[in-house]
Amino acid sequence: MSNVSRITVAYGDGIGPEIMAAALHIIQSAGARIEPEVIEIGEKVYLKGNSAGIEPSAWESLRRTKVFYKAPITTPQGGGFKSLNVTARKMLGLYANVRPCVSYHPFVKTKHPNMNIVIVRENEEDCYAGMEYQLSDTVMECLKIITRPGSERIARYAFEYALQHNRKKVTCFTKDNIMKMTDGMFHKIFDEIGADYPSIEKEHWIVDIGAAKMADTPEAFDVILMPNLYGDILSDVAAQIAGSVGLAGSANVGSQCAMFEAIHGSAPRRAGQNLANPSGLLLGGVLMLVHLNQPDIAERVHNAWLCTMEDGVHTYDVFKEGTSKQKVGTKEFGEAVVARLGKTPHTLKAVHYSAAPPKAAHAAEAGRTPAKVTVEGIDVYVAWPSLDTGKLATAVQKAVGDGLDLIMIDNRGVKVWPDGMAETLCTDAYRCRFQAKNGTTSKQTVALLGRVLDQGVEIVKTETLRNFDGQAGYTLSQGQ
Ligand code: NAD
Repeated sequence: MSNVSRITVAYGDGIGPEIMAAALHIIQSAGARIEPEVIEIGEKVYLKGNSAGIEPSAWESLRRTKVFYKAPITTPQGGGFKSLNVTARKMLGLYANVRPCVSYHPFVKTKHPNMNIVIVRENEEDCYAGMEYQLSDTVMECLKIITRPGSERIARYAFEYALQHNRKKVTCFTKDNIMKMTDGMFHKIFDEIGADYPSIEKEHWIVDIGAAKMADTPEAFDVILMPNLYGDILSDVAAQIAGSVGLAGSANVGSQCAMFEAIHGSAPRRAGQNLANPSGLLLGGVLMLVHLNQPDIAERVHNAWLCTMEDGVHTYDVFKEGTSKQKVGTKEFGEAVVARLGKTPHTLKAVHYSAAPPKAAHAAEAGRTPAKVTVEGIDVYVAWPSLDTGKLATAVQKAVGDGLDLIMIDNRGVKVWPDGMAETLCTDAYRCRFQAKNGTTSKQTVALLGRVLDQGVEIVKTETLRNFDGQAGYTLSQGQ
């Protein structure tokens, strides 16, 4: 069997073709055992009328090779064009986003000379599920979805990554003091999975103070695991404070496929001038070589690149009079790295990659016994243009029955009936909570909806109030 790996390559838009040519030249000169299949994605495909920016034939190549090396693309301005990155992540099930953020002091200016962290971001869930609704004339809603299986696999990925890359600590950032159910479960699962990795230090920070600490003292962290939204924001912060977003690569990894790229965009103003820095894409390529189980080549490329950086051979974005020695273009930078293949850096720390260890055996995910579920009531969201909460309460109270009582009405999560405060800002979307002391049935809650409608109240959505093994599967509203 050949040990050459087929990969799918997209040259992208703007500076994409130049930096991809340079990165592939370096990787192939280093002896990478790869066979690229080139696909077209991005601007040209969008402008041909394909709103996803990718043709069906390109998906076939991706399904076949399962490895995507992608240069940045330009998403055309205007509505109707879907983000190709988000589509690729979701379609290929790329649940883990991995972004090493390292400073290259004293060769690249940075406030954090000892920074060397890796952000592992959950890539599919959270507010990125794309589930948004307009509830009323003035209220929009975005659902934040966090699942047990999704959280389990990203937590396990972070710990496995730490083991394989000889990292000592995994830190989890969440906001579970506020989002007790969604972020609370993410944190709890981090603790559960972490128990399988006794050799790795574990800690949890609330994301706000954790982010502040990361921006101030990044050397306090090693691997940081985050749900999607915090990870999206903070991985850009981390790359920027390490020195430059132009130097970071990233991996998007799923159980079947993986995609490797630079974190920056297509920089259209720099396109076609042999100016752009290919480093971010090249370091994405290093992550790809590790994934392809070619650690020897990954190490050769990465160390040659480190030598180039410390020899002061820099593209315009990194070049600094005094520190840098030679300002070069994209092609010349590529040649400079090729000329250093086989060398190891003197000042910067040389990297070492080892073959992926066989997958560690974990205690089989204990077959979870499904929780015992009971129905307690229903939250009925209504559009109510008048600010007269009392009138709304009078109307919906006429709908009670079958043991279901009106417990409270809230607005933006703050109780406004009974005993609301005049100061509470109210919008035209309210939530009416009906609960039965001794439990109820879904049939009875549905019957209640009919009675609410009979009062001329417009229902916009409902959430069933359920208990899971005796634990409330919902939160109380502020003031309830
Ligand atoms: P950008 O990352 O392209 O550029 C930001 C700034 O950094 C610019 O000043 C640019 O000149 C500079 N820069 C970026 N990469 C560089 C490199 N390799 N070498 C030297 N300088 C570099 O961000 P933008 O201008 O906001 O976006 C441009 C386009 O890229 C948009 O169409 C956007 O949608 C797209 N984009 C694509 C991806 C992707 O494909 N993964 C990611 C982000 C943005």
